[in-house]
Amino acid sequence: MNRQALDELKQQISLMGYLQAHDWHPARPLSRGRWMGLCPLHADHQPSFLVDPHKDLFYCYGCGRGGDVIRFAELYHQVKFSQALVLLRQWRGAEPVLQEVTRFYRLQLDRHSEAVAYLYQRGVRSRELIEHMRIGYAPGGCRRGWLTQLGHSLPALRQAGLVTGMGYDAYVHRIVFPLEGNLYGRSLSDAAPPHRFLPGTKGGLYCWDQVRRYPEVILVEGLFDYAALWQAGFQNVTCSLGTHLNARQLGQLCDGPRTVYVTFDADGNGSGQQAAQCLSRSLRERGITARLVSLPEGHDPDSFFVAGGDAQQFHHLLQEASR
Ligand SMILES: [Zn+2]
Repeated sequence: MNRQALDELKQQISLMGYLQAHDWHPARPLSRGRWMGLCPLHADHQPSFLVDPHKDLFYCYGCGRGGDVIRFAELYHQVKFSQALVLLRQWRGAEPVLQEVTRFYRLQLDRHSEAVAYLYQRGVRSRELIEHMRIGYAPGGCRRGWLTQLGHSLPALRQAGLVTGMGYDAYVHRIVFPLEGNLYGRSLSDAAPPHRFLPGTKGGLYCWDQVRRYPEVILVEGLFDYAALWQAGFQNVTCSLGTHLNARQLGQLCDGPRTVYVTFDADGNGSGQQAAQCLSRSLRERGITARLVSLPEGHDPDSFFVAGGDAQQFHHLLQEASR
């Protein structure tokens, strides 16, 4: 990529927009339009991360790192310069349409009783939770027309994985959760494969920026597990979207001293427990305290609460967790 193309990329992606899309919140205004907030690059407890939106530069007084949006992407995603450029270009291409799609799906949720009924049956009942996770529903039909009207071309939607080769909504009849640069869709019917993601990375740990400040973190494998715990009052919960963590997720869990309560499904075949043990080992090798939470046989955190488990009982499971 030559100098000119680099400058173009930086002009198209404002540092502030990119930071906020990654859950950064400006906490305190300074002179000349600058802002302070918690540093997304280290475990920060009082705002030490300065952003100058006019110069598109950041500097952290805590960890001493600073630079432009490319430097931020390198540090935040823990990748090399060239890979940061790839991520930023992908983000520039996909982000506007993902925002629109998320908005559209969220509007549809309340209009479709089958979606609300499904959420209810899975234990997702609080409005606050639905807003917090920005949960939506893909009813099928009408989305493509809406997006093409907004100027997104059909080939671009197809390339992003939002539309099938036949031109249908790839998420039809799914509950949809927006992720960082991706969407997770859970099928309502047993006839379709249960899980769907857009091609590309599943991103980092779910809502990590809100969780990383806790000294003790509960890690679950599915978003419905996350939802059940969050609804029960556990705010220190995060989700790896599967039992296999990618390098970025592992790096996040190990970015500071903490205890991780690994709470994977208690599957009949033991695969969840095996994955949990394997993860605990790699966490311990990196100096992180890992504890294994044993759910009753055949349960995941979601079904534990749906079956009548409460926060106190779950607290008890955390206390009993093996080292
Ligand atoms: Zn920092």
